[in-house]
Amino acid sequence: MAAEQPSFCADASISSQTVDSVREHFATEDELTEFLVADKKLTDLEGIGNKTAGRLRSWFENEHQELEQKRREQSDAYCRVFVADVAVPDDDDKFYFGFVCPKCEQTNNLVGDPAEFAGRPYACVACGWTPLLDSDVLNKFRADNYPSSTEDDT
Ligand SMILES: [Zn+2]
Repeated sequence: MAAEQPSFCADASISSQTVDSVREHFATEDELTEFLVADKKLTDLEGIGNKTAGRLRSWFENEHQELEQKRREQSDAYCRVFVADVAVPDDDDKFYFGFVCPKCEQTNNLVGDPAEFAGRPYACVACGWTPLLDSDVLNKFRADNYPSSTEDDT
C-alpha cells in the first residue's frame, strides 16, 4: 500500500518493485541519511542496484544539502585542500597550484585554470589514491587565487 511507503521512497521516485528492498535496509529516513553521510555504498546492499542507488543519492543531495556537505568533508573521496604556493618554473606565466591528497597529504601539482579541474578525479602521485577535486572548495580557491578569475575567457 502506498500509504505505508516511507515518504523518502516516493520523493526519490523509487519504483514500487524496489521499495520493499529499500525498506529492508532503511526503515526510516534517518537510517538512510546516516548511511549516506558515512559514505557507504548503497549498491553493496542486497536488492539495491545502480538505478535505485542513483535516485536515493540525488534525492539526498537535493533534500539534505548540509548532510551532503558533511559527507564530502568527512570523505577521503574528495580533496578539499588546495595550495597556491607551489614551485613555479621561472619562465612560465601559467598558473600553478596543488591539491593535497586526503589520504597521504602529498601535494600534487596542477597547472592551468582551477575551474577546469573542479569536480574531476586526479590521482595522487605518491599513493595512487584518486580523489575528486571538490567543486565548491576549488571554485572558492580559484576566486581567491587565480589571477584572471574576473575575466570571462570561455
Ligand atoms: Zn596520496
